[in-house]
Amino acid sequence: MKYDYLIVGAGLYGAVFAHEAKKVGKTCLVIDKRGHIAGNIYCEDMDGIHVHKYGAHIFHTSNKKVWEYVNQFAEFNHYVNSPVAVYKDELYNLPFNMNTFSKMWGVKTPAEAQAKIEEQRAELNITEPKNLEEQALSLAGRDVYEKLIKGYTEKQWGRPCTELPAFIIKRLPFRFMYDNNYFNDRYQGIPVGGYTPVVEKMLDGIPVKLNTDYFTFIKENPEIADKTLFTGMIDEFYGYKLGALEYRTVRFETEKLDMENYQGNAVVNYTDREVPYTRIIEHKHFEFGKQPATVISREYSSEWKPGIEPYYPINDEKNNELFARYRALAEKEEKVIFGGRLGNYRYYDMDKVIEAALEMAEKELA
Ligand code: UDP
Repeated sequence: MKYDYLIVGAGLYGAVFAHEAKKVGKTCLVIDKRGHIAGNIYCEDMDGIHVHKYGAHIFHTSNKKVWEYVNQFAEFNHYVNSPVAVYKDELYNLPFNMNTFSKMWGVKTPAEAQAKIEEQRAELNITEPKNLEEQALSLAGRDVYEKLIKGYTEKQWGRPCTELPAFIIKRLPFRFMYDNNYFNDRYQGIPVGGYTPVVEKMLDGIPVKLNTDYFTFIKENPEIADKTLFTGMIDEFYGYKLGALEYRTVRFETEKLDMENYQGNAVVNYTDREVPYTRIIEHKHFEFGKQPATVISREYSSEWKPGIEPYYPINDEKNNELFARYRALAEKEEKVIFGGRLGNYRYYDMDKVIEAALEMAEKELA
């Protein structure tokens, strides 16, 4: 059987594209090297708790079209992400807001908080922030940077904040309101029942082959499809011939605890350097779980090496330049398209993945 599309990767990008292709009568075969669908949004059931096996995923978007699109596949609950940060023996609300500033400096009003930040900013003389450190300092001042950003960021990225792009810290809201919502987006929630059923519904009626490595499969089945959508690592696709792109990976230490509530919040960040993990996720709180036991995951960040899962592309200048050279090769392909976080080497949130996949589908399937 010959398919219109071979889709490499059963994650969100591949599943959205496959769904759209099937809708217009195209045939697709989806393959994935893992033993399950849903890529990194896969949830594993442990004692009735949906464990976000590859890290916490909180759906948020301001794009109404994307929100309506995902709502075809799931009902979303009213979870609002409000992490807390532990720095040594102090605890702060995130993102950076009046609750954080009030705890840090004893201030009560926005004017008092602004004055405090202004005072710290004035000592620094930063006009145009050139890196993450300068961006963070000029947004929030020295205290917030030292206690809540520097240690966490250097653990997460394994690089000094002076060598990281400023955009990474601009992901987080910074506001003079007593508002602990981690996102500014209009829509937010967790799909009731976890993420795996969402992808299952997207892939309804589409053949999926798991535990199937693309590079082996295509050697054995070179004529399997007219076109390929590749959502794996673009540098691996080209045999790393221009050099290897860098990624960060995350190792999870997941543990079931015999208690109902371990930390009182889904996400607790550990922002000092001394604690080796970046955060602890208590999965049940994403869905307001009332189970007698709980499951937590500690996240340890490290540099990616071949053979382990890549998570975060490192979009600094050096890697972006290398990616641009791979991109130039990709643009010459007539039978292969690239998509997703690894195919596009982009620090995508889920809503941006869906947006990108829908755009690609519109262009490709027109
Ligand atoms: N960050 C920080 N302190 C925190 C949480 C985040 O400095 O307590 C910074 C850090 O540089 C991180 C970035 O903000 O890489 C983006 O955080 P986000 O929570 O968006 O990361 P993700 O959830 O994608 O891992």
